[in-house]
Amino acid sequence: VRWVRFVREDGRIAYGTAEGESIVEVVGSPLVAWEEGDVVHEPGTVRLLAPVLPSKIVAVGRNYAAHAGELGNEVPDEPMIFLKPSTAVVGHGEPIRLPANAGRIDYEGELAVVIGRVARRVRADDASAYIFGYCAANDVTARDLQKKDGQWGRAKGFDTFCPLGPYIDDEIDPLASHIELRVNGDTRQSGSTADMVFGVGELVAFISSVMTLLPGDVILTGTPPGVGPLQAGDIVDVEIEGLGALSNPVEAG
Ligand code: ZN
Repeated sequence: VRWVRFVREDGRIAYGTAEGESIVEVVGSPLVAWEEGDVVHEPGTVRLLAPVLPSKIVAVGRNYAAHAGELGNEVPDEPMIFLKPSTAVVGHGEPIRLPANAGRIDYEGELAVVIGRVARRVRADDASAYIFGYCAANDVTARDLQKKDGQWGRAKGFDTFCPLGPYIDDEIDPLASHIELRVNGDTRQSGSTADMVFGVGELVAFISSVMTLLPGDVILTGTPPGVGPLQAGDIVDVEIEGLGALSNPVEAG
């Protein structure tokens, strides 16, 4: 099932499932309670939003050895986690805004895991029962500020620094999916989620041993090699096998 969240023609926000190009609206939220509905929205009549509004985004640093290496870092012996604020989230098609005087701003294409049930001290082998689905993400990062601050709250936390979408799918293999990032159509990152140091089950277990994960919370699972800067006017696409392409324009300020 491909879940979307969208603005209807009358301005109301709803959830639905993508059926081909059309969207079948459901009653309620798939993360709380929902029923099937009979309203069908034809292609082009609704505007997609980020498919989920997380209470928190837990991101994992250096989870692909080749990316850790390209920035001169070692692979950690435990997952290295940090938080991005919920207010950084934007959806497919919404602009990434480059803050003024923040230095270099990088893209990082990543697989996002969306939690479906309250998860506390979950075992890695049981993790799939707590996962609602997966979507593409861009962990936008102010690289110079990340180095300058040491703490990453500012570098990772600007508004619009967490595009998610275009939809959430629950049927992909999260440990064997091709992940690609393009800037203006040129491929900059190309990898496989098979190369993650810590797999999705291990990440859910590790993070839920620290903090309770709530329905809708998002885990960003790290980025493959090839990170680089964005400029105003760019279009950046994160495409993950089975999850479509998350596309965002880049704008100043
Ligand atoms: Zn990242």
